[in-house]
Amino acid sequence: MSFHASIITLYPEMFPGPLGLSLAGRALERGDWRLETTHIRDFGEGRSRAVDDTPSGGSAGMVLRADVLARAIDAASPADDARPRLLMSPRGRPLSQQMVRELAAGPGVNIVCGRFEGVDERIIEGRGLIEVSIGDYILSGGEMAALVLLDSIVRLLPGVMGNALSGETESFETGLLEHPHYTRPAVWEGRPIPPVLTSGDHGAVEKWRRQQAERITRERRPDLLK
Ligand code: SAH
Repeated sequence: MSFHASIITLYPEMFPGPLGLSLAGRALERGDWRLETTHIRDFGEGRSRAVDDTPSGGSAGMVLRADVLARAIDAASPADDARPRLLMSPRGRPLSQQMVRELAAGPGVNIVCGRFEGVDERIIEGRGLIEVSIGDYILSGGEMAALVLLDSIVRLLPGVMGNALSGETESFETGLLEHPHYTRPAVWEGRPIPPVLTSGDHGAVEKWRRQQAERITRERRPDLLK
């Protein structure tokens, strides 16, 4: 069975969006991964299919209702679903390459996309949602965060990336940020390619890349070296 992603959202038209193009899109067409959307609106209350209501205790904005979300989640993900149920949320665990690798090794994901002020807190416990953040800033909805998460997962799935090796030396996979890259022309606007890279000495190239990766990590992200 290929990796199975279910998205629970008020904007199903946003999927697959950019993931319908390029490597991810071709992999989707081949069936290397599957994508389904569940429209929260279909599970709304009453004739207007209301999905949100005002925050208890008062304050600005609206909150997605727990009962409506539960119906949408239950339609997408049966009780015995082996796939984790994630909620995109700025309060969540920061997304990391380690988390992406673990998710990519599993059967798939359910992703609940918040909107407005967020979701009724009770749905998080009631449906065992794991909150995941893509960074310390606020988006207007969880859809773009879900696309980011899915893109990072899909590129790790078997058969998706043309050159499988290029994934292994990438930033974060080695615990370091990646070394610089160069390609032709040999000199561009007076700037040459570092001579070691065209020396043909593979040992020297490896050593240089390692040193550069360490230097860049030390300068930009000393926290990664700890
Ligand atoms: N009131 C909330 C923010 C709501 S933003 C707060 O202050 O924490 C609306 C929705 O966008 C959220 O429910 C979530 O699904 C999504 N979202 C916003 N920022 C995000 C982030 N950094 N990571 C993941 N999802 C995010």
